[in-house]
Amino acid sequence: MRLLLVEDDLSLRGAMRDALTRLGYQVAGVGTAGDALNQLGADPPPEIILLDVGLPDQDGFEICEQIRRRSRIPIIMVSARIAVESRVKGLNAGADDYLAKPFKLAELVARIQSVARRTDWSTREEPSPESRSVKRVGPLVVDPNARTVTVHGAPKSLTRKEFDVLNLLAGRPGEVFRREEIIGQVWRSGGEGGERTLEVHIASLRTKLGVRDLIETARGIGYRVTTG
Ligand code: CA
Repeated sequence: MRLLLVEDDLSLRGAMRDALTRLGYQVAGVGTAGDALNQLGADPPPEIILLDVGLPDQDGFEICEQIRRRSRIPIIMVSARIAVESRVKGLNAGADDYLAKPFKLAELVARIQSVARRTDWSTREEPSPESRSVKRVGPLVVDPNARTVTVHGAPKSLTRKEFDVLNLLAGRPGEVFRREEIIGQVWRSGGEGGERTLEVHIASLRTKLGVRDLIETARGIGYRVTTG
Protein backbone atom coordinates (compact mmCIF):
# COMPACT_ATOMS: atom_id res chain seq x y z
CA MET A 1 0.00 0.00 0.00
CA ARG A 2 1.24 3.47 -0.91
CA LEU A 3 1.41 5.94 1.96
CA LEU A 4 2.07 9.67 1.77
CA LEU A 5 3.77 10.78 4.97
CA VAL A 6 3.53 14.53 5.55
CA GLU A 7 5.78 15.43 8.49
CA ASP A 8 8.26 18.28 8.84
CA ASP A 9 10.16 16.72 11.76
CA LEU A 10 12.97 15.04 9.84
CA SER A 11 13.95 12.52 12.50
CA LEU A 12 10.35 11.49 13.16
CA ARG A 13 9.67 11.25 9.43
CA GLY A 14 12.78 9.13 8.90
CA ALA A 15 11.87 6.81 11.77
CA MET A 16 8.27 6.42 10.59
CA ARG A 17 9.33 5.85 7.00
CA ASP A 18 11.90 3.21 7.99
CA ALA A 19 9.48 1.39 10.28
CA LEU A 20 6.59 1.43 7.79
CA THR A 21 8.85 0.42 4.90
CA ARG A 22 10.06 -2.57 6.93
CA LEU A 23 6.41 -3.57 7.29
CA GLY A 24 6.00 -3.57 3.52
CA TYR A 25 4.43 -0.16 2.91
CA GLN A 26 5.64 2.08 0.10
CA VAL A 27 6.23 5.41 1.78
CA ALA A 28 6.69 8.80 0.13
CA GLY A 29 7.75 11.42 2.65
CA VAL A 30 7.34 15.20 2.34
CA GLY A 31 7.76 18.02 4.83
CA THR A 32 5.45 20.79 3.61
CA ALA A 33 1.79 21.27 2.71
CA GLY A 34 2.80 22.43 -0.77
CA ASP A 35 4.73 19.22 -1.45
CA ALA A 36 1.84 17.19 -0.07
CA LEU A 37 -0.60 18.77 -2.55
CA ASN A 38 1.83 18.09 -5.38
CA GLN A 39 1.97 14.43 -4.39
CA LEU A 40 -1.80 14.07 -4.92
CA GLY A 41 -1.08 14.11 -8.63
CA ALA A 42 1.62 11.43 -8.43
CA ASP A 43 1.16 8.43 -10.68
CA PRO A 44 0.13 6.18 -9.04
CA PRO A 45 -1.32 8.45 -6.32
CA PRO A 46 -1.01 7.68 -2.59
CA GLU A 47 -3.69 5.45 -1.08
CA ILE A 48 -3.60 6.83 2.46
CA ILE A 49 -2.22 10.16 3.72
CA LEU A 50 -0.64 10.55 7.16
CA LEU A 51 -0.88 14.28 7.85
CA ASP A 52 0.97 16.15 10.57
CA VAL A 53 -1.11 19.07 11.89
CA GLY A 54 1.85 21.36 12.59
CA LEU A 55 3.51 22.10 9.24
CA PRO A 56 5.80 25.04 8.45
CA ASP A 57 3.91 26.50 5.48
CA GLN A 58 0.26 25.84 6.32
CA ASP A 59 -2.04 24.74 9.10
CA GLY A 60 -2.78 21.02 8.90
CA PHE A 61 -6.54 21.53 9.19
CA GLU A 62 -6.52 23.87 6.19
CA ILE A 63 -4.49 21.52 4.08
CA CYS A 64 -6.81 18.71 5.08
CA GLU A 65 -9.76 20.67 3.67
CA GLN A 66 -7.78 21.47 0.53
CA ILE A 67 -6.92 17.83 -0.05
CA ARG A 68 -10.58 16.90 0.52
CA ARG A 69 -11.72 19.35 -2.14
CA ARG A 70 -9.42 17.70 -4.65
CA SER A 71 -9.37 14.08 -3.62
CA ARG A 72 -11.07 11.42 -1.52
CA ILE A 73 -7.84 9.72 -0.46
CA PRO A 74 -8.27 8.78 3.22
CA ILE A 75 -6.43 11.06 5.65
CA ILE A 76 -5.15 10.19 9.11
CA MET A 77 -4.25 13.36 11.00
CA VAL A 78 -1.32 13.07 13.37
CA SER A 79 -1.03 15.68 16.06
CA ALA A 80 0.31 16.55 19.48
CA ARG A 81 -2.88 18.56 20.05
CA ILE A 82 -5.01 15.98 21.78
CA ALA A 83 -7.93 18.11 22.95
CA VAL A 84 -11.35 16.83 21.93
CA GLU A 85 -12.06 20.08 20.06
CA SER A 86 -8.94 19.54 18.01
CA ARG A 87 -9.97 15.99 17.10
CA VAL A 88 -13.47 17.18 16.15
CA LYS A 89 -11.91 19.97 14.08
CA GLY A 90 -9.74 17.45 12.25
CA LEU A 91 -12.67 15.16 11.54
CA ASN A 92 -14.75 18.14 10.40
CA ALA A 93 -11.97 19.14 8.03
CA GLY A 94 -12.51 15.81 6.31
CA ALA A 95 -9.97 13.58 8.07
CA ASP A 96 -10.88 9.92 8.38
CA ASP A 97 -9.07 9.33 11.63
CA TYR A 98 -6.97 11.12 14.18
CA LEU A 99 -3.86 9.91 15.97
CA ALA A 100 -2.30 11.71 18.94
CA LYS A 101 1.46 12.14 19.32
CA PRO A 102 3.38 10.50 20.80
CA PHE A 103 2.09 7.21 19.43
CA LYS A 104 3.31 3.64 19.27
CA LEU A 105 4.07 2.17 15.86
CA ALA A 106 1.55 -0.60 16.55
CA GLU A 107 -1.22 1.98 16.99
CA LEU A 108 -0.30 3.80 13.79
CA VAL A 109 -0.36 0.55 11.85
CA ALA A 110 -3.71 -0.39 13.42
CA ARG A 111 -5.17 2.96 12.31
CA ILE A 112 -3.81 2.53 8.78
CA GLN A 113 -5.30 -0.95 8.57
CA SER A 114 -8.60 0.19 10.03
CA VAL A 115 -8.93 3.06 7.55
CA ALA A 116 -7.91 0.76 4.68
CA ARG A 117 -10.52 -1.82 5.71
CA ARG A 118 -13.27 0.79 5.76
CA THR A 119 -12.29 2.22 2.43
CA ASP A 120 -14.28 0.84 -0.44
CA TRP A 121 -11.82 1.74 -3.17
CA SER A 122 -14.15 0.69 -5.95
CA THR A 123 -16.94 3.11 -5.01
CA ARG A 124 -15.02 6.01 -3.52
CA GLU A 125 -15.34 8.15 -6.61
CA GLU A 126 -18.99 7.24 -7.25
CA PRO A 127 -21.47 8.27 -4.57
CA SER A 128 -24.48 5.93 -4.45
CA PRO A 129 -27.64 7.09 -6.27
CA GLU A 130 -29.40 7.11 -2.90
CA SER A 131 -26.88 9.55 -1.46
CA ARG A 132 -27.50 11.93 -4.38
CA SER A 133 -31.30 12.00 -4.45
CA VAL A 134 -33.33 14.86 -2.93
CA LYS A 135 -35.04 13.77 0.30
CA ARG A 136 -38.28 15.16 1.71
CA VAL A 137 -39.24 14.14 5.22
CA GLY A 138 -42.03 16.18 6.80
CA PRO A 139 -40.85 19.81 6.85
CA LEU A 140 -37.30 18.78 5.94
CA VAL A 141 -35.80 18.91 2.44
CA VAL A 142 -32.22 17.69 1.86
CA ASP A 143 -30.69 18.36 -1.55
CA PRO A 144 -27.31 16.58 -1.86
CA ASN A 145 -26.56 18.08 -5.27
CA ALA A 146 -26.82 21.67 -4.09
CA ARG A 147 -25.82 20.54 -0.56
CA THR A 148 -28.69 22.58 0.88
CA VAL A 149 -31.09 21.85 3.71
CA THR A 150 -34.37 23.61 4.37
CA VAL A 151 -36.92 23.21 7.16
CA HIS A 152 -40.37 24.64 6.40
CA GLY A 153 -38.65 26.32 3.45
CA ALA A 154 -36.06 28.11 5.59
CA PRO A 155 -32.43 27.35 4.64
CA LYS A 156 -30.19 25.89 7.36
CA SER A 157 -26.44 26.30 7.41
CA LEU A 158 -24.75 23.00 8.26
CA THR A 159 -21.13 21.92 8.35
CA ARG A 160 -19.99 19.38 5.81
CA LYS A 161 -20.18 16.47 8.25
CA GLU A 162 -23.50 17.57 9.75
CA PHE A 163 -24.88 17.57 6.23
CA ASP A 164 -23.48 14.11 5.49
CA VAL A 165 -25.01 12.68 8.68
CA LEU A 166 -28.42 14.21 7.92
CA ASN A 167 -28.30 13.17 4.27
CA LEU A 168 -27.60 9.59 5.33
CA LEU A 169 -30.38 9.44 7.95
CA ALA A 170 -32.93 11.15 5.69
CA GLY A 171 -32.20 8.60 2.95
CA ARG A 172 -34.21 6.00 4.90
CA PRO A 173 -36.71 7.87 7.11
CA GLY A 174 -37.99 5.96 10.11
CA GLU A 175 -35.15 3.48 9.95
CA VAL A 176 -32.64 3.32 12.80
CA PHE A 177 -29.01 3.70 11.72
CA ARG A 178 -26.50 2.13 14.09
CA ARG A 179 -23.92 4.57 15.43
CA GLU A 180 -21.04 2.54 13.95
CA GLU A 181 -22.78 2.55 10.57
CA ILE A 182 -23.13 6.36 10.58
CA ILE A 183 -19.54 6.84 11.69
CA GLY A 184 -18.34 4.34 9.10
CA GLN A 185 -20.28 6.02 6.28
CA VAL A 186 -19.65 9.65 7.14
CA TRP A 187 -16.13 9.50 8.53
CA ARG A 188 -15.20 6.24 6.78
CA SER A 189 -13.49 5.25 9.99
CA GLY A 190 -14.42 4.02 13.44
CA GLY A 191 -11.51 5.70 15.15
CA GLU A 192 -11.36 6.27 18.87
CA GLY A 193 -13.68 9.08 19.90
CA GLY A 194 -15.98 8.46 16.93
CA GLU A 195 -19.12 8.03 19.02
CA ARG A 196 -18.47 11.21 20.98
CA THR A 197 -17.87 13.06 17.72
CA LEU A 198 -21.16 11.75 16.36
CA GLU A 199 -23.01 12.87 19.51
CA VAL A 200 -21.58 16.36 19.10
CA HIS A 201 -22.78 16.49 15.50
CA ILE A 202 -26.27 15.19 16.33
CA ALA A 203 -26.65 17.75 19.12
CA SER A 204 -25.58 20.54 16.79
CA LEU A 205 -27.92 19.30 14.03
CA ARG A 206 -30.90 19.26 16.39
CA THR A 207 -30.19 22.82 17.45
CA LYS A 208 -29.73 24.08 13.90
CA LEU A 209 -32.77 22.29 12.45
CA GLY A 210 -34.92 23.61 15.28
CA VAL A 211 -37.54 20.87 14.95
CA ARG A 212 -38.11 18.86 18.07
CA ASP A 213 -37.76 15.09 17.66
CA LEU A 214 -36.87 15.24 13.97
CA ILE A 215 -33.77 13.21 14.81
CA GLU A 216 -34.72 10.57 17.32
CA THR A 217 -32.31 8.64 19.54
CA ALA A 218 -32.71 4.87 19.59
CA ARG A 219 -31.15 4.38 22.99
CA GLY A 220 -28.03 2.25 22.93
CA ILE A 221 -28.34 1.72 19.16
CA GLY A 222 -28.24 4.85 17.07
CA TYR A 223 -30.43 7.50 15.44
CA ARG A 224 -33.24 7.92 12.95
CA VAL A 225 -35.10 10.69 11.21
CA THR A 226 -38.76 10.45 12.18
CA THR A 227 -41.44 10.75 9.55
CA GLY A 228 -43.56 12.82 11.90
CA1 CA B 1 5.25 19.22 12.76
